[in-house]
Amino acid sequence: MINPQELAALISGDVETTDAALTAASHDASLFEVRPQAVVHPKNVEDVKKLVKYASDHPGVHITARSAGTDMSGGPLTDSIVVSFLKYFTQIKEVVEKPQPPIKGVEISGYAVTQPGVYFRDFDKATMEKGGQIFPSYPASRELCTVGGIAANNSGGEKTLTYGKTERYVRRLKMV
Ligand SMILES: Cc1cc2nc3c(=O)[nH]c(=O)nc-3n(C[C@H](O)[C@H](O)[C@H](O)COP(=O)(O)OP(=O)(O)OC[C@H]3O[C@@H](n4cnc5c(N)ncnc54)[C@H](O)[C@@H]3O)c2cc1C
Repeated sequence: MINPQELAALISGDVETTDAALTAASHDASLFEVRPQAVVHPKNVEDVKKLVKYASDHPGVHITARSAGTDMSGGPLTDSIVVSFLKYFTQIKEVVEKPQPPIKGVEISGYAVTQPGVYFRDFDKATMEKGGQIFPSYPASRELCTVGGIAANNSGGEKTLTYGKTERYVRRLKMV
């Protein structure tokens, strides 16, 4: 069992246990339904580290990342702790127009550094504004999903036959 007070004292972010929050986090875009015991919104990387340690110190406690929750396979669902990146991990740090080494024959016009909770629609706008650049493996859910979910799912979409999936275009991941 999870102790929400203990979690709230541990991190600087927010811990939710309201019926509305737990119900919203019980679904993604699949038919599955799994109700978590808490939804946590980490404010920074230190919070994520503390949550990972909390889970490893408490047998039976699990953490599952969630971004926009549009997964179609139940990926962001858990009966334990949902760690949501939508509230605080929403910064696009930089978008740079500067040719990079080609990837499998595809010319790369630049790069971007972003946090996982950024909606792809906002990321796309930011890269378009820097020289009309696109991240080519966006999924059909591009208006609804985030870059974190795209990276974790290795998403692909309408341009994937030509350009490949997300794994080709992620140069670096900062992970806990
Ligand atoms: C109408 C519709 C069309 C779709 N079309 C496509 C498509 O063309 N191609 C495609 O690939 N998918 C598609 N999807 C599925 C889904 O939208 C994508 O895979 C999307 O990239 C998931 O992003 P999300 O932000 O919603 O992630 P979520 O659903 O929140 O999470 C997806 C997975 O990533 C993990 N995750 C999320 N955030 C993080 C994080 N910060 N750190 C580590 N792990 C994390 C979750 O635990 C989960 O396993 C579609 C879904 C819908 C509803």
